Amino acid sequence: MRVVVVGGGVIGLLTAVECVRSGAQVDLVEQSAIPSPVATSYDQHRVIRTLHRGEPRLSIAAAGLHEAWVETERRLGGRFYHRTGVLTVVTDIEAELALLSETRVPVRALTGRELPARYPQLRLKAGQHAILEPAAGTVLADRALLAAARWLRGHPAVRTHPHCRVTQLTDSATVGFANGRTLSADSVVVAAGPWSRNLLPAGLAASLTLKRQTMLSYSPSWFPAAWSRSPAVLGLGSTGDAWMMPPVAGTSVRLSAASACRTVADLTDRQTPGTWRTHLTRRFGTLLTAFEPGAVTGATEGYYLTDEAGQGPLLVRLGDEVWAFAACGGMSFKFAPVLARALADRALGNPARPTGLESVDLPRQLAGDLRGGA
Ligand SMILES: Cc1cc2nc3c(=O)[nH]c(=O)nc-3n(C[C@H](O)[C@H](O)[C@H](O)COP(=O)(O)OP(=O)(O)OC[C@H]3O[C@@H](n4cnc5c(N)ncnc54)[C@H](O)[C@@H]3O)c2cc1C
Repeated sequence: MRVVVVGGGVIGLLTAVECVRSGAQVDLVEQSAIPSPVATSYDQHRVIRTLHRGEPRLSIAAAGLHEAWVETERRLGGRFYHRTGVLTVVTDIEAELALLSETRVPVRALTGRELPARYPQLRLKAGQHAILEPAAGTVLADRALLAAARWLRGHPAVRTHPHCRVTQLTDSATVGFANGRTLSADSVVVAAGPWSRNLLPAGLAASLTLKRQTMLSYSPSWFPAAWSRSPAVLGLGSTGDAWMMPPVAGTSVRLSAASACRTVADLTDRQTPGTWRTHLTRRFGTLLTAFEPGAVTGATEGYYLTDEAGQGPLLVRLGDEVWAFAACGGMSFKFAPVLARALADRALGNPARPTGLESVDLPRQLAGDLRGGA
């Protein structure tokens, strides 16, 4: 079989790998370079964790992700998955521990009294507790994409088409380009990330909202030992919406919060407006001990879609053999190894292998309960 995969982000690249591993010939098409430096996935870090606060089914689904990324790294080669641990600050620790007990992943509960000694860089409020997942990790996302692209480029079953923007999809597994050229296959998988609205039917595209979020790069000089062994930290702040990614393998610390996310009309530049840089700098001044505004070395912007019908990604069948995956919400990177398997199974007409995701919204769509479509 021949499959056209559109998109050189994490979903497109890993789907292409899965198709090749199942014996298919793959054409990988990307509007930018491969991997794509403009992709949402092409960022410093993405965190791989089990605990999703207050979401038992999602937590159970995420329990196998650590192994999935270990396996992805082993298969692709390179070093991009680091077992940093993930610390989640929680308000109702008993409820979260009960939720985690079903997942059987090792966790450690840390009381508010233990936290300052272990993590002096964090400024937590009295009464805040946390759960540490020591086996959870951080993917160096851009390095994972480079490893996948290298694997694909070296494979005789793969043809890459960088700098080719798809402008049209037909329901007969043909993609069209701006210059009138077309490329046909037995099936097509589109993983266009935040650009997905351009290739979806208008009604469906209108139900997706584009978000833009600012992140700060931070290189602190205080508490060097604590920072060097820091886990990723989620759930910071009184609303629990702020997070920090640790300085793994020479990367800077990354700081952001849902409060730095806003709805925008179009995907434009990545220049951070001063107001958003100031907003995050002020917020982290209250969340980190000895915060050094001068150690904020940069700021960057990320784009993603949300689906008004739910939090999760959207899988749409646009024709008998045309599948479009829109990575709505903030879970497609961590689930990418299992999503890629599911998408490859769809594209190749193979019996769907279990994803472990069958009981949450995302798998409902993968299981064939598809919305929209042409
Ligand atoms: C600030 C931020 C934090 C996040 N945190 C997390 C997290 O902790 N965990 C998590 O799981 N997820 C997280 N996400 C979401 C996650 O990063 C994305 O869902 C995921 O990277 C999307 O991958 P993708 O391959 O579908 O899309 P992308 O990585 O955006 O790739 C899509 C590719 O398609 C190409 N393309 C688009 N249109 C066309 C076209 N017409 N023709 C050819 N090529 C085209 C683009 O150039 C791009 O390279 C976060 C997102 C942001 C912005």
